[in-house]
Amino acid sequence: MENFVFFYRDPLFGIIIFISIIALIALLDYSRNRVRAQKKEQSLKDLAKSYEYTTLNDDIAKFIQISPSALQPLMLMAKSYAQSGDNESAIQIYLSVLESLKSSKDKILVLERLGEVYLQAGFLERSKDIYTQILRTYPRNPHALKSLMQAYEKMGEYEKALEVLECLDEVQNAQNNIHISTDMEEFNNFVQKSQSYFYLMMLLQSCDIPLVLKLKNLKEIGKNHPMFNKVILNFLKINDKNAFWEYIKGCENIRNYIDILYPFNELPKDIKKYPRIYEIFVAKGMIEDEMVCEVFELEILHRLRLVKKAYLGFEYRCHSCKGIFPFDSLRCPQCSELGEMDLIIKILEDRSL
Ligand SMILES: [Zn+2]
Repeated sequence: MENFVFFYRDPLFGIIIFISIIALIALLDYSRNRVRAQKKEQSLKDLAKSYEYTTLNDDIAKFIQISPSALQPLMLMAKSYAQSGDNESAIQIYLSVLESLKSSKDKILVLERLGEVYLQAGFLERSKDIYTQILRTYPRNPHALKSLMQAYEKMGEYEKALEVLECLDEVQNAQNNIHISTDMEEFNNFVQKSQSYFYLMMLLQSCDIPLVLKLKNLKEIGKNHPMFNKVILNFLKINDKNAFWEYIKGCENIRNYIDILYPFNELPKDIKKYPRIYEIFVAKGMIEDEMVCEVFELEILHRLRLVKKAYLGFEYRCHSCKGIFPFDSLRCPQCSELGEMDLIIKILEDRSL
């Protein structure tokens, strides 16, 4: 007993105990990290497996196993398929590649691309699941955050899109990923525009806010952000015709709103006071007037009415990527840029009797 007490009082005993505690903590921490890593790995495997019902291309999987260097060309091939609109082939390649990969880092890269194709193809739930899973593993992945925001936006869940945008803003600022001031300015601009857009859409969607209050807020938003005029006009056109006319009379770039005005068959009495709006209906043939229309296409339609039946068709061009689309959208489907598209006016022959 005396020996034990002597040993207990020995300073060396204290040092041994101290080192043992540190070793135990280190061992526990290592085990916890290992379990976490295994869980992450397993969750990625489970996610990949959950999409296996889509036919995997066994040849591709075997090809990668034999020649790992084929991964890059296959990724490029899948990207080309996706860009040409063949989403099915792109998905098949990504899933086959995913199945044959072992490293989590490589899997994440492929999952990001797969999420993009699902987003582009309109499989929004699948895209959302993929990005949520990636963020569970790597919560500070800016690409996944941006894509998840877009998925929520496309699903009409603007509140969640706004939350993800705030996370993206924090991550970018914390990581200092953007070093060049012009890029930082561009990113801040993107954040501000997206925030305003989500607030606007939440306001339009809300059933709790009375229409009178909505109209007041919409006017305020439109005054500060003219790029939202078309969204506001389309809302007013359905919900309050008087407010619609009141709003459009105050707009500047009427040429860009011809597609919204053109289908109208009933006009306010004071329409002549607004020549840029008035000329649309003169060109359409609803009002007889020998005036000269300022917009070239309207003037052609106006003159053409005497010899041939014609009408106006519309297409939309993105400011940023210059892509042309048959449908209007505030977010470009090609480059994801937020902004009002330029209206392309086309004169079409009316072949109906
Ligand atoms: Zn674009």
